[in-house]
Amino acid sequence: MRAYNFSAGPSTLPLEVLEEAQRELLDFGGTGMSVTEISHRNKAFEAVVTEGEALLRELMGIPDDYAVLFVQGGASTQFAAVPLNLMHNKKADYVVTGNFAKKAFQEGKLYGDAACVASSEDKTYSYIPDVAAIPFREGTDYVHICSNNTIFGTRYIRFPETKAPLVADMSSEILSREVDVKKFGVIYAGAQKNLAPAGVTIVIAKRSLIENPLPECPTMLKWKVQDENKSLYNTPPCFSIYMATLVLRWLKKLGGVKEMNKINVYKAGLLYDFIDNSAFYTNNVEKEYRSIMNVPFVTPSAELDAKFVKEAAANGLVSLKGHRLVGGMRASIYNAMPVEGVQALIAFMKKFEKENA
Ligand SMILES: *Cc1c(COP(=O)(O)O)cnc(C)c1O
Repeated sequence: MRAYNFSAGPSTLPLEVLEEAQRELLDFGGTGMSVTEISHRNKAFEAVVTEGEALLRELMGIPDDYAVLFVQGGASTQFAAVPLNLMHNKKADYVVTGNFAKKAFQEGKLYGDAACVASSEDKTYSYIPDVAAIPFREGTDYVHICSNNTIFGTRYIRFPETKAPLVADMSSEILSREVDVKKFGVIYAGAQKNLAPAGVTIVIAKRSLIENPLPECPTMLKWKVQDENKSLYNTPPCFSIYMATLVLRWLKKLGGVKEMNKINVYKAGLLYDFIDNSAFYTNNVEKEYRSIMNVPFVTPSAELDAKFVKEAAANGLVSLKGHRLVGGMRASIYNAMPVEGVQALIAFMKKFEKENA
């Protein structure tokens, strides 16, 4: 039986997509080979990249003056690529709302005057600072944010209005809700949360911003080079790009991002409502800023948390252990998690509460 997998990443993928990949695994598009065995210059593979890009543009409403790239190295490599492509004046602002936002900030400091202009570390990242009150500096090359905080379970409900281009790490929420791409200079996301297996990272960048990467920027990290080569500068992560394309087809068939968001809001609502009405489970995030992708929660004790994780797994509800920085549990309910998975989790939570309260 297939488990309901609440892993924060790599994460569950739509069953339909896995089945399609399985069907095509030995003979991709009549080539007599697997998609993992053909050249990335093969026409059949080039068609996959072209379709993936077109679907992403359509589903996110990405304007033509933005590049859409499929690159490697995970979101963590983009922490460096951002300054290396954009930091001409060696000055950038960072909003630190979680562990990944902090890592991006620390990487930024390697390349210039990166400043943390707002942080929620004072309350263990359980909220998002008021974006209207952030003292952004003058003359910065960009402002960096992390739109959904995977470990702490928070997300921006509105994005800051900034003079400098806004750069967002959307790894754990890309395609889960509608965003106005025009408001951003750059959006990037590792695919393994909401889109594909690990290996590919999406970069969406306004072309006018990426004309002049810093001279010391490694060629592989130059977004301009990746754009000019249609993400085929070197061997790309072929299988992950193929899987991303299948997931994008699935998302389009389902009705696109708007429809997906409705389902996500519904799923998250079921879980938060249940937690809020329970005297046994707690979620410590300020309600307004709760993520609809990552839902951390605790029972009254660390011992019960451990018992919960173990018994849930025995019941086919797996990878619910919280991040080592926060403990407790975390249910990652990305796009591919069906409503039934969340309902099964809630049913188990009820039973566990009855037996252990
Ligand atoms: C998972 C994650 C990362 C790290 O991604 P890698 O692909 O492991 O480098 C960065 N930012 C956010 C928001 C994430 O959720």
